[in-house]
Amino acid sequence: MRNCVNHPELESIERCEVCDDPLCSLCLWYGEKGHRYCETHAQAARLQGEQIFSPNTYAEGIPASLAVSDGRSSAGGSEGQAGEKMYTGNQQDLYAFVAAAIAVVSLASCFGGIYCLPFVGAILGGIAFFNADKSVDPKRTRLMGGIALGVGGVVIAVIVLFILIYGAIIISALVAGTAP
Ligand SMILES: [Zn+2]
Ligand SMILES: [Zn+2]
Repeated sequence: MRNCVNHPELESIERCEVCDDPLCSLCLWYGEKGHRYCETHAQAARLQGEQIFSPNTYAEGIPASLAVSDGRSSAGGSEGQAGEKMYTGNQQDLYAFVAAAIAVVSLASCFGGIYCLPFVGAILGGIAFFNADKSVDPKRTRLMGGIALGVGGVVIAVIVLFILIYGAIIISALVAGTAP
């Protein structure tokens, strides 16, 4: 490739679309829609109303503006942002996080066990759920609190159901035993 018309010591990277002069990165001007110009034809294009980017502004200017517009268009998805964020939160977030963790972890341990952590998870989850507005990320806190509440609630419901079934069996056995 030939060297720049203005800088004989520098290799050219592009050519002017109008005069076909080879241009280095210091001399390459950009127009709208990716047009490449030498400085002379960049000024000519500017006079005709085209937006022109100088070699200096291109490096910072265009990628940054493209990045901004990309960010805006992709921000339509509501879950994109949350996924990128590291865990940040205050005490309410922590309640919800701990509650959800306890509820999920203790789900297995509860079956057949007397000691039932989901009660703790449900209570903590309830606290987090109803205080979600005070947390840094109410949506996430409400979700995690809701999970803890839901899991704890299901486990409690199952336990109550078992107690009722046992009670019904005992009562029916008593009734059957005393029946004539
Ligand atoms: Zn030119
Ligand atoms: Zn040059």
